[in-house]
Amino acid sequence: MIIIDGSHGEGGGQIVRSAVALAVVTAKPVTIINVRAGRRKPGLMRQHLTAVNAAAEICGAKVQGAEIASSCLAFEPGAVRPGEYTFRVGTAGSATLVLQTVLPALLIAEGPTKLTLEGGTHNPFAPPFDFLAEAFLPLVNRMGPQVRAQLQHAGFYPAGGGQFTVHIQPSAKLKGFELLERGEILRRHVIACVANLPAHVARRECAKIARQSGWDQSCFEVKEIHDSRGPGNVVMIRIESQHVTELFTGFGQRGVKAERVAGDVWQEAREYLAAEVPVGPHLADQLLLPLGIAAHHGSRGAFVTMPLTRHSTTHIEVLQKFLEVNITVTQNDRQGVHVELKNGRRL
Ligand code: AMP
Repeated sequence: MIIIDGSHGEGGGQIVRSAVALAVVTAKPVTIINVRAGRRKPGLMRQHLTAVNAAAEICGAKVQGAEIASSCLAFEPGAVRPGEYTFRVGTAGSATLVLQTVLPALLIAEGPTKLTLEGGTHNPFAPPFDFLAEAFLPLVNRMGPQVRAQLQHAGFYPAGGGQFTVHIQPSAKLKGFELLERGEILRRHVIACVANLPAHVARRECAKIARQSGWDQSCFEVKEIHDSRGPGNVVMIRIESQHVTELFTGFGQRGVKAERVAGDVWQEAREYLAAEVPVGPHLADQLLLPLGIAAHHGSRGAFVTMPLTRHSTTHIEVLQKFLEVNITVTQNDRQGVHVELKNGRRL
């Protein structure tokens, strides 16, 4: 039995989702104690619960403690059953984080899967749908499986009501990859979206980023979303390079000026551009899991990123509890941090 202390390191929902995802992949039972002890509202919240229940459903797991506010979760996985599933978060909780939990096992399942996910598709503190579709999944598709995601409706916090589907064509094992340079930048694209809000919000966001970046007007797009249940505003900066696409996101909030939202996301993109690395901070923590599985399967992977976040360092510790993986992190001579995942035990 693997025991994970959920208060350790970053102490949030990612430890829970990753531990459960890895339990399903490796068929090893896990108990998570002190679930989200570091958070203002500790314990499992609805979106974590949906993720745990979704993982349990795809493998017929026996679960104890899967309740709202529960601080201890015992998860005993069974064999993975690919097929067709619908998972609903029920609130505007992030549906993309539910995908994060079930995807690893389905990538290496014995048959294809079609998932329908409902809830929030563009939530603060979670990967927006576009990040999955444009940054994360293309890299997963380099590892053997073929995964296609389609957005039906956007769902913003707090109204939710979004939906997307994911088709997964698995492969028996995951292959690692090297992503050490981003290569030439091919395209810069800023898209500011508003749903049930005035279009000037999105126009002001584009104007702010245009002033700060000096990028040509052709890089900017304003999009009005008409089929969203509630109001929402998201501004995304996509940097498409020869070897990778990165996407940075800012979310409009009541009481926060559009210029501030745009300024913050531009700051993130600017730091990434200045660091001259291929992998940004969020992509780094999300790549660790599939690359860890690939290493466990005997296929080495490596990438260069910015200084590791606590999400990433905590994730590395969780991976090493489940997988035969040796992860080394070294600072290279410039600003980059080199992360290598190989088969083997922690030294
Ligand atoms: P947690 O805070 O533990 O619930 O984990 C949140 C997850 O969402 C982590 O994997 C983050 O990398 C990811 N995430 C948060 N914000 C973004 C963003 N703007 N773009 C992409 N991924 C994100």
